[in-house]
Amino acid sequence: MRKRVDRDYSDKVLQKADKLIREGRVMKISEQFFYVIGDHGKYFVDVKGSSIRCNCPGFKNRGFCSHSVAVLLTMLREDYAKTLDAAVKKRLQENLELIKRGEFPR
Ligand SMILES: [Zn+2]
Repeated sequence: MRKRVDRDYSDKVLQKADKLIREGRVMKISEQFFYVIGDHGKYFVDVKGSSIRCNCPGFKNRGFCSHSVAVLLTMLREDYAKTLDAAVKKRLQENLELIKRGEFPR
């Protein structure tokens, strides 16, 4: 029996997020906001602790998107992660694992 997890969507989102980072399309504009230039528009990603929200339609439908995941990956990079609270970092890592499994991050 196949479990109903959306691995295909997750894989696509993770690949796109990685591409956004590689192309320098993720910018931190303040303590709380990142600006991401997506394929279909420019979005603001709002970070509160380990809660990452994007204002794109995909986020509204799924609860995560390539922009918010790009910010998540950026925050878990060594240089940035050093500045994070240990509990926030742990939560972000857990969310990334959920996304990798095709599950819904909380
Ligand atoms: Zn988004």
